[in-house]
Amino acid sequence: MSLHFGLFATESGCVSGLLVDLGSRRPMHADFAPALTRKSEHVLPGATGPSPRRRGPRGPYRQTVIMRIELASEPAAPPAPNEDYAAVALPASGTGGAVVVLDGVTPPRDGDTGCVHGVPWFTARLGGAFLELAGAREAPLADCLAEAIRRTGAAHGPACDLTHRRTPQATVAAARWDGETVEHLVLCDAALLLERPDGAVRPVLDLRLSRLPRDRPAEEMRNREGGFFTAAADPEVAARAVVGGVPRTEVAALAALTDGMTRWTEVLGFGDWAALMQRVRKAGPRGVVAEVRAAEAADADRSRYRRGKVHDDASAVLVEL
Ligand SMILES: [Zn+2]
Repeated sequence: MSLHFGLFATESGCVSGLLVDLGSRRPMHADFAPALTRKSEHVLPGATGPSPRRRGPRGPYRQTVIMRIELASEPAAPPAPNEDYAAVALPASGTGGAVVVLDGVTPPRDGDTGCVHGVPWFTARLGGAFLELAGAREAPLADCLAEAIRRTGAAHGPACDLTHRRTPQATVAAARWDGETVEHLVLCDAALLLERPDGAVRPVLDLRLSRLPRDRPAEEMRNREGGFFTAAADPEVAARAVVGGVPRTEVAALAALTDGMTRWTEVLGFGDWAALMQRVRKAGPRGVVAEVRAAEAADADRSRYRRGKVHDDASAVLVEL
């Protein structure tokens, strides 16, 4: 399989990417034309070059779509840093792949996190370690997350108080697949959508945050028994993640989303999870980010859509298997 990956940035700071199997001959984003045309046998439909019907050395080119992956991550308010993390590993130890999406929890207003590191440092460390471990396929996803939390904790310095309730932390959505199974893991309010071949969509959600009693500040329930949990400094939290696995034949596509993207459903009410998945597949992660941003901008005083922040960092990875 010949895979190419490209990244590009928009004026708003959105970073997007698309990864394709060049053998699939699938229409691709025009921004990738320069990369693709470097290989004359792989060209965009309509571009000059060999006909798709041309025979290769060993017969007709493969026509089936093997895989399409797109990702986008846009900061809430540039030039403020993006506290999300989104990455994909292909293959993951020779087969399938792995996706990790994190949403770094915004520090309190007073900035007191007990740590000399910023949230973007934390999500880069945690996400990178988690992706590496998930890709190695030596342990279940929850164990990989626990080890990634452990490693990240060790990377803090002596001035960092890892017992601080607001120590840098993140919500998590991850998936790993091979020829047999699609494994998934969700912690806190990131989301993973699994689309079946018949189009039905199953959301994998950790509902603890949304089910907190309303008569107590959510902050009191952070990483506390009976409350909700984030990936912070305690590796044991990984065991509390929502995990599972489904046969790969039952998954046509998946999407990992931070809550800046799930706003499309949960805050803006544009449609249910199945509708969101359809939009992500049709418009791509960039297109859905644009829809969310447009709605937010039209409601800058937050009078129509209830939300804590006008904009939020928004990230999504779409995988069509
Ligand atoms: Zn630190």
